[in-house]
Amino acid sequence: MKIRLIVAKNIGFCFGVRRSVETVEKLLESERKVYVAGELVHNERVLNELMKKGMVLFNPHSDLPKDLKAHTVVVRAHGLPPNIVKRLEDHAGRVVDTTCPIVMDMFKTAKGLAKKHDRLYVLGDPNHPEIVALRGYVEDPIVFKDRNELEKILKMRNDNPNLKVALISQTTKDFMTFQRSLELLVKHFKCVSVNRTICDITIKREEELGELSKKSDVVMVIGSEKSSNTNKLLRIARENTKAFLVSDPHDLRRRIPEFYDGMVVSMVSGTSTPDQLVDEMIDELKKICEEVDVVWSR
Ligand code: SF4
Repeated sequence: MKIRLIVAKNIGFCFGVRRSVETVEKLLESERKVYVAGELVHNERVLNELMKKGMVLFNPHSDLPKDLKAHTVVVRAHGLPPNIVKRLEDHAGRVVDTTCPIVMDMFKTAKGLAKKHDRLYVLGDPNHPEIVALRGYVEDPIVFKDRNELEKILKMRNDNPNLKVALISQTTKDFMTFQRSLELLVKHFKCVSVNRTICDITIKREEELGELSKKSDVVMVIGSEKSSNTNKLLRIARENTKAFLVSDPHDLRRRIPEFYDGMVVSMVSGTSTPDQLVDEMIDELKKICEEVDVVWSR
């Protein structure tokens, strides 16, 4: 059996996640134990490998580890509320902040907009660490996860249409939902400022996936079920074709029930998927199908 595999150009870790993971790896070369405030990356495999080397995860919003003073704490790419960073600085040996610069820009934009407007609307998942951190920069943002939720919020609040409102987004939300949310806000309010704080890296992945899914029999989305970014890609791919989420190469055969001669498979990944996992998936596909014509998008 011969299949064609198209590997997306934008695949593997994004630069923000890569920077955080590489920082922890580097620290572990000289430190026996390195604390990370929260889940470094939404990928169990990467976490397990780093934990074997001495990384310890803890919840920075709860009781702090007793021996923190003797160790380095890393702030992950999603960032933390400023008061929590301050608390870590007061209690840890040192703090290495790897908040992604794009995420930090979003926090600053949110703060600036909140000062000049009556309401700040934020497209995001309320429990996502980026939104939890954002709440430390802005008081009472109105967070909604999709257009339907925004519609309900608008009805329930029944705010005066003359209020000045602003709209931003969690960096990993999808562009279409953002656009639809903006249209809804514009219907309700006379003055809406908008700042598209979605990360360009995730937009590029969505656009590329839109193209690939139209010319593929199946899309393989590599990543963790826990990653909102990976789940978003799965939803987008399913608008055009069959799509499966695969997090472990050993699970590939079970996740994708059928391969056939001439099948076109596309491979994409979330931003928290390591490049090594992509390579392993390709190797596994080669084991399952006799011949795999691998096409690397450039
Ligand atoms: S997706 Fe974009 S904003 Fe989020 S960590 Fe990666 S580079 Fe930064």
